[in-house]
Amino acid sequence: MTEFSTRAVHAGQEPDAGTGAVIPPIHVTSTYAQDGIGNMRAGYEYSRGGNPTRDGLQTLLADLDGGVAAYSFASGLAAEDALLRAYLEPGARVVMGNDVYGGTHRLVNRVHVPWGVQLVVVDMSDVDAVRGALEGAPAKTVLWVETPTNPLMKIADIAGLAELGHAAGALVVVDNTFASPYLQQPLSLGADAVVYSTTKYLGGHSDVVGGAVVLADEALAEAVAFLQFGAGAISSPFDAFLTTRGIKTLAVRMERHSANAQAVAESLVGAPGVERVFYPGLADHPGHEVAAKQMRSFGGMLSLSLSGGAAAAKRFAESTEVFTLAESLGGVESLIGYPSEMTHASVRGTELEVPDDIVRLSVGIEDAGDLVADLRQALTR
Ligand SMILES: *Cc1c(COP(=O)(O)O)cnc(C)c1O
Repeated sequence: MTEFSTRAVHAGQEPDAGTGAVIPPIHVTSTYAQDGIGNMRAGYEYSRGGNPTRDGLQTLLADLDGGVAAYSFASGLAAEDALLRAYLEPGARVVMGNDVYGGTHRLVNRVHVPWGVQLVVVDMSDVDAVRGALEGAPAKTVLWVETPTNPLMKIADIAGLAELGHAAGALVVVDNTFASPYLQQPLSLGADAVVYSTTKYLGGHSDVVGGAVVLADEALAEAVAFLQFGAGAISSPFDAFLTTRGIKTLAVRMERHSANAQAVAESLVGAPGVERVFYPGLADHPGHEVAAKQMRSFGGMLSLSLSGGAAAAKRFAESTEVFTLAESLGGVESLIGYPSEMTHASVRGTELEVPDDIVRLSVGIEDAGDLVADLRQALTR
């Protein structure tokens, strides 16, 4: 089992030993019978500490990113929190991009900063700014990289930033939610840890909220494992099952998401009412070359700005028929959003604010022609 698509179907998913069931059962149990006090049949004692369905997903996630271990959580933010608290301490520093997922900024700013952590926000595409933010870094410093970013699809050079981060002694973390492990492999580019909102492409069907951390280092893996057990933000057996089921088709879905997004992006360039299209698959995107180097293809997310400004952007976002107006992303169905009042409402007035003429698309796996036609009719309204 060497190729990604094969591993996505089989890693951690052996047929059930007892019955031969090709799909391992969902272990909906809180506790496990002991044959004598402390004598567990398969090492499982209580499901916060361990559950076979969650273990199957974790084995799969670690395999797909080439990590030593992975841990799955109740949400992407729960995963991020566990990783950050496993590593940070009061006095530590987090350096993050000025366009990271708003919830990540809020988590550090409102949960970890009051605990004594410093937060430094920089433009991740500006190497000098990142170097400056890492200067005099405390012993525990995290360089938090997200690429592509939300919603402007900026691209950060993972290998370059990993080198910069390591030179300053920082832990380099990549939020790989937008790309998924099929399109981008941060650990192989030098990162120390990867986080996911598995709610998005890994789950892939908009039917489960979850998160994961994948680690390259055993000691940090143990610290995250302890917090998963000790703080308890685990994913449920059913959520772990849904996520595992989604991952089996990740490779084919991402191919289709990328092809559809490319077609949609190209159809929007120069379309009436469209000012700019932000998609790394377009040759004139400022991150195109780095994206081409570090990603298998360019993914399913794109944004556009409307020449009619905020009013036109809102009208457009409310005028599609195939694209559903909703938050979130990464599912098989196409979604449209107005970031400044939806996903990014919480960061208005901060350095993470998103321009109000931007509309974000999560391009699904429907027929590309239908998607292009839907956006055309919405633009004419
Ligand atoms: C959605 C998202 C998160 C947060 O994940 P939840 O599952 O909603 O907690 C983190 N990072 C990115 C890039 C996301 O899109």
